[in-house]
Amino acid sequence: MRAMVLEKPGTPLVERELPDPHPGKGEIRVRVLSCGVCRTDLHVVDGELEHPKLPLVPGHEIVGLVDEIGEGVEGIEIGARVGVPWLGHTCGVCSYCRSGRENLCDAPLFTGYTRDGGYASHAIADARYAFVLPEAGTDAELAPLLCAGLVGWCSLVKAGEGTTLGIYGFGAAAHIILQVALWQGRKVYAFTRPDDDEAQRFALSLGACWAGSSDEAPPELLDAAIIYAPVGALVPMALKAVRKGGRVVCAGIHMSDIPSFPYSILWEEREVLSVANLTRRDAVDFLEVAPKAGVETTVTIYPLERANEALDDLRAGRLQGAAVLVP
Ligand SMILES: [Zn+2]
Ligand SMILES: [Zn+2]
Repeated sequence: MRAMVLEKPGTPLVERELPDPHPGKGEIRVRVLSCGVCRTDLHVVDGELEHPKLPLVPGHEIVGLVDEIGEGVEGIEIGARVGVPWLGHTCGVCSYCRSGRENLCDAPLFTGYTRDGGYASHAIADARYAFVLPEAGTDAELAPLLCAGLVGWCSLVKAGEGTTLGIYGFGAAAHIILQVALWQGRKVYAFTRPDDDEAQRFALSLGACWAGSSDEAPPELLDAAIIYAPVGALVPMALKAVRKGGRVVCAGIHMSDIPSFPYSILWEEREVLSVANLTRRDAVDFLEVAPKAGVETTVTIYPLERANEALDDLRAGRLQGAAVLVP
């Protein structure tokens, strides 16, 4: 199989021809049709997330066709179009797994981080953590749903029921979850890097009621804010923008340090919380919601061998929506 491989964090991926993998017990092999490029991939490639499997095939927004099935797999057939997300395996026995919070499992495996992912022509997945995809949508359009969409969904659930929602960092997750939030009847305020007019226009074109720079105050106080940008300085800014009892949800896996801030902006039962990974239940729920909400993704397609370019464009903020690799 063909793959883009991370041999050492901090170095570009290299194109490699690897032996064809075969699924073990409980696993499937997927012929990759598309794989989204997520900010977490940048954190892995740049060495900000420690102890990746090495060498590693990154990528955890995989859309593909099942082309080989291992022993003991039930409920998935050859030829099915499936999605493989970040959560690649959980232990099933720790206190988190047993209490319905497998997203916090003590011994998990993550696709494209601690097991090989989808920057390749083929990928092996634990069948229990792969999901049959809806029929609508092209392979490239569906890929961003598998992390940007899912993490967006988990953070939206954590944000609570409030109607005014702020979104800080208008990338792949934001452009998907804005559509879900509007479908739920919420008002969305989009915050971007100062003077990122293009991202602000993009947010308004998708239906945000206001778009501005992250250092601006929104025209009304927010019920909740979700931070997708990996920038700790946004936490106090978002706290100032939420009303009493409001929530600030940090949705990234990595963030720069949060600067100190006066207690008065947390006081009055404002909350800061984070959302980690996903459960299989989240995936099932979101894959049902996305077509109902009419989610349409904006994607930029790159051939697999240009993965480094896609990562660079994401790092530099040159993308609207999501980057997707196609083998
Ligand atoms: Zn566990
Ligand atoms: Zn991701």
